[in-house]
Amino acid sequence: MAYDQSNIFAKILRGEIPCEEVYQDDSVLAFKDIAPAARVHVLVIPKGEYVSLDDFAEKAGGEEVAIFFKRVRGVAYQLGLEKSGYRVISNHGADASQMVPHFHVHILGGEPLGGLLARDRLER
Ligand code: 5GP
Repeated sequence: MAYDQSNIFAKILRGEIPCEEVYQDDSVLAFKDIAPAARVHVLVIPKGEYVSLDDFAEKAGGEEVAIFFKRVRGVAYQLGLEKSGYRVISNHGADASQMVPHFHVHILGGEPLGGLLARDRLER
């Protein structure tokens, strides 16, 4: 799948759409999710053009991958989640309901998050 430069996170990176920034450096941007699924819900995205985790793991260099996940940890610490705990989710493709085709991870926390998947899915 080719990278679509009109996706919403590309627009946020270009400054065309505002976001509630949490952290930014040369390679990543972290910002609050517009529809939080937990008391704390922050998205971390690389500034490079990657469609999803699958694309990032295939095309990014080892150092870029390492730095990205170091930054995810750093943002979790900045949010004060390291002691209480947090969950990192990345959706790839249709079955995972990926909505935005720019690689991102969700950091969720600030309250007990329950089981891994939503109850309605588990009861099927
Ligand atoms: P996905 O399903 O692709 O893993 O998640 C995309 C996430 O992006 C969703 O949680 C959604 O609420 C969030 N989102 C979509 N549009 C915007 C936006 O314009 N601003 C922000 N901050 N988050 C957005």
